[in-house]
Amino acid sequence: MAGSRYAYTRTFELPDPLLPTTFFVIRLDGKGFHGFSKAHDFDKPNDVKALELMNMAAKRTMEGKELMGECVIGFGESDEYSFVFKRSCKLHGRRQSKLVTLVTSLFTSAYVFLWPSYFPNSPLQLDELPVFDGRIVQYSTELEVKDYLRWRQVDTHINNMYNTCFWALVLEGGMTAQEANKELSGTISSQKQELLFSRFGINYNNLPPMFRKGSVLVWEDEPTPAPIEAASEPEAVEPSSSSTSAEPSPSASPAPLLTPDGRPRRNKKLD
Ligand code: ATP
Ligand code: ATP
Ligand code: MG
Ligand code: MG
Ligand code: MG
Ligand code: MG
Repeated sequence: MAGSRYAYTRTFELPDPLLPTTFFVIRLDGKGFHGFSKAHDFDKPNDVKALELMNMAAKRTMEGKELMGECVIGFGESDEYSFVFKRSCKLHGRRQSKLVTLVTSLFTSAYVFLWPSYFPNSPLQLDELPVFDGRIVQYSTELEVKDYLRWRQVDTHINNMYNTCFWALVLEGGMTAQEANKELSGTISSQKQELLFSRFGINYNNLPPMFRKGSVLVWEDEPTPAPIEAASEPEAVEPSSSSTSAEPSPSASPAPLLTPDGRPRRNKKLD
């Protein structure tokens, strides 16, 4: 009640608006999906149904009345999704907490709703629900937004190449996880490609684009005649951690950003 003696507690709420005209990205990531994917027996390294479910939850997030077409690009890999918003977006007075919580719960809600269509034989359990955390980051130029997407796409590539090798060594090569990690330690991209081809007959470049490059959703509310600009050769790569390796990307130039069904998308002006 606005006029009650308790209303002063409202004044403890801090304003948290984004700057007036920045692009912003909301990135969600599944909490503990290593365990969640095990509990539901995801195929390794890539469970197609799980990726398609992420894509459909993202599609619902972007298309629904809640965001009113203000989110123009989605990029997904593994258990994460990034949502890029127009700089002119005025939803919820650009309040950060409102935006992050709304998008996170919208996506999670769609993921849970759609789950039975993708995993009919593996019902969700109340003590192991799929939950996502969310963060929001502002960018002031289109170049930064494109570089953000390139960064996530390079990450997809590095993780996927490592995981493809790792699971080939474990599932087909009979190695333990520790042995596989040791085998891959310090290898560069070309060595991994060679390992996959010579030992397992896998041509990395023939793996589905969704595994190698992630998935892109583009909101199109107007004709966009320009052809898409292919992501430039991934170059800057962070130092290796235990689960990824530092390396230049393979020589094949990256594919244009693809839709979940594999169609190339056209270039999109962001605002
Ligand atoms: P955190 O809570 O810190 O994010 P996490 O266990 O979710 O921990 P991530 O780095 O986010 O760790 O990695 C997600 C993990 O989920 C991957 O390592 C992989 O094991 C699993 N995963 C997610 N999507 C898929 C998929 N489509 N197919 C197979 N495994 C998947
Ligand atoms: P906003 O998005 O701004 O929060 P809102 O429609 O959710 O808009 P609130 O001020 O949050 O508006 O009020 C919630 C409304 O939801 C109530 O006015 C009431 O109409 C409805 N509502 C919520 N819980 C119940 C309930 N248990 N029984 C009946 N109606 C409910
Ligand atoms: Mg995380
Ligand atoms: Mg995670
Ligand atoms: Mg993740
Ligand atoms: Mg309400």
